[in-house]
Amino acid sequence: MEFEPSPRAQSVTPFLVMQLLDQAKELVARGEDVIRLEAGEPDLPTPAPVIEAAQRALAEGKTSYTPSAGTPELREAICEWYADRYQVKVNPDRVLVTAGTSPGLLLAMAAAVAREEEVLVADPGYPAYTNAARFLEARVVRFPVLESEAYVYSADRISQFVTDRTKLITVNSPANPTGARLPAKELARICSLGTWVISDEIYHELCYEEGRCHSALECTDRAFVLNGFSKRYAMPGLRLGWVIMPESCIRVMRNMNMNFYLGACSVSQAAGVAALREADEDVARMRAVYRERRDLIVRRLREIGFGVPAYPGGAFYVFANAKRFCQDSVAFAQELLANTKVSVTPGIDFGPASEGYLRFSYATEAARIAEGMDRIERYLAGR
Ligand code: PMP
Repeated sequence: MEFEPSPRAQSVTPFLVMQLLDQAKELVARGEDVIRLEAGEPDLPTPAPVIEAAQRALAEGKTSYTPSAGTPELREAICEWYADRYQVKVNPDRVLVTAGTSPGLLLAMAAAVAREEEVLVADPGYPAYTNAARFLEARVVRFPVLESEAYVYSADRISQFVTDRTKLITVNSPANPTGARLPAKELARICSLGTWVISDEIYHELCYEEGRCHSALECTDRAFVLNGFSKRYAMPGLRLGWVIMPESCIRVMRNMNMNFYLGACSVSQAAGVAALREADEDVARMRAVYRERRDLIVRRLREIGFGVPAYPGGAFYVFANAKRFCQDSVAFAQELLANTKVSVTPGIDFGPASEGYLRFSYATEAARIAEGMDRIERYLAGR
């Protein structure tokens, strides 16, 4: 009899874009010139201080296990970062360093929700929230973020989905896949709805309008705050992130972390300290580059006929209404790849309400983005 994986394991769904990625790679292998606008990965080089710190750590033989919750240096640097950026005092005991934001998400959700409890997730939203909740046998309740409101989370709308079974609201600003930024006031209102919050702040500092991003820690202690180094420090392969835990969850989250992960990479943690302390100028340069690309891609998408309600305030994505051109976002993404050699992410990956939309990433050189837009324009004009 064939081995049957557990129902819990089977509840985790793949990204549909992975199928497309395989097709794109096949095309590249055949020598085709594919423009990659589907990836959620920075194309810009990792800041020099980060690379140097990693090399130094290796040269000094820093290859042992670190304390499971993270090196004291990195946890201290993370606390300094909260004091500096958000004027929030965080006790280093509340910092759990993880191998990327992703393990932090699973640990935070595992600490927070029991079976059958409800987790609120934005539609469109980052798919890992839904999959982590399902994996833990919690119930996912989706709340809409609307194109007509430029995809900004609304506390009023979220409150309509809060019941006595709601344990957790997931918040992500700037957001994947929409790039929308949550104003401080709205974040504070969401944090005061009486539930716990997981705030995924991984795209903080990649924002292109006036004003800084706000952390949930500025308005509540009833939050798990996720952050990481993959995006703003362009070091996703070094797998480093962290969670700020509520005091009451320190023990259980440390226990889970030391059993399931042991800890994060020693070399990456040394690189992380350099990122937090020495890479501000690099981040400012990257921000300026992304901003120019954002302006270019939004202008061109609108000219072609895609619906983009506003210039997204952060991250490196544009979520575009493609209903003028398609009903089925997977088929349309495949059609674009086959006919224009431009790969994009189908909206349906981000929730059922996102059918008919596409996500464009601008973590690709401006000239390539421009070329990709020209190809799509030419193709759709003759379709
Ligand atoms: N959160 C969001 C919103 C993301 O877009 C990503 C990466 N795509 C992650 C978390 C995970 O990032 P990492 O594990 O590399 O820190």
